[in-house]
Amino acid sequence: SGQDYNRYPNPYNTHIRQKAAALRNVVKEQVFMGNGSDEAIDLLYRAFCEPGRDNVIICPPTYGMYETSAHLNNVALKEVLLKDDFQLDLEAIHAATDANSKMIFLCSPNNPTGNLLHSEDIKWILKTFPGLVVIDEAYMDFSPAESWVSRLEQYPNLVVLQTLSKAWGMAGIRVGMAFSSPEIIKILMGIKPPYNISTPAHAAAMQAMCNETQKQMYVKEMLLQLHRMNEALKRQRYVLKVYHTDANFVLVKVENPNHLYQYLVDRKVVVRNRNTTPKCEGCLRISVGTREETDLLIKYLDQYPFVEL
Ligand code: PMP
Repeated sequence: SGQDYNRYPNPYNTHIRQKAAALRNVVKEQVFMGNGSDEAIDLLYRAFCEPGRDNVIICPPTYGMYETSAHLNNVALKEVLLKDDFQLDLEAIHAATDANSKMIFLCSPNNPTGNLLHSEDIKWILKTFPGLVVIDEAYMDFSPAESWVSRLEQYPNLVVLQTLSKAWGMAGIRVGMAFSSPEIIKILMGIKPPYNISTPAHAAAMQAMCNETQKQMYVKEMLLQLHRMNEALKRQRYVLKVYHTDANFVLVKVENPNHLYQYLVDRKVVVRNRNTTPKCEGCLRISVGTREETDLLIKYLDQYPFVEL
């Protein structure tokens, strides 16, 4: 309530860390809560990479913030493209790794391709990579896979990122989390801005996390709409490929992607144009919407390209 806003929030984010820990079956010393998981990404760079000397491995096409944060922190990037099946290229990752490689970011399910990375490949990296292995599970609630949080004890170099922005439907409050060993979490806690989660964000996060049934209902509905969207995409002649997805969006290869993109924008449907992203040429990434939004999207897809522009 507004009456508490004259006080600074608790700098240890105690209650939401406790809650997240309970949900994921770890202790609160293994949980960092930040201003979105984007903050955790940035703090990992600051804590574990020496600017101008160290490097980090990323596997594009993937989430853009790993690259942005690397540039902001003057940390070199080694980009090892995913293979054509959007899985990790283990040999190339091994070849790219050197004594200054401090982190590797693995996004599973991956944004923007939608697929889970093979867990055997991830295990191999956890065992052989000399630095931190950061597994970004922003979309994991939409997938059938088990979270890597349950394997923290086995892998001391593992950091798992999750967020309230996707399945919980709370992107606006900016709360994300990192799970790792107490040693690593202590370092992140030590360098974060003291009041990185505001009192209202803390309260909203707490409320959301206390209602897992609500989240499960959101996810169920989103998966239903995703299925309808997928079926509608598959029947279009201009759709060349609908990629398998384990997330709340789908990557589709279409004829003339820029044209379809603009056609949808003109109808107030904004999707992601990934036409210029290596390995995603010709592709749009479409996020799932509400039932009504999905109805509209399907109508527009069925009409395209036969309407006058
Ligand atoms: N990781 C991935 C893979 C994402 O797609 C996003 C959001 N686009 C984030 C992290 C950032 O999420 P947050 O809102 O928690 O900063």
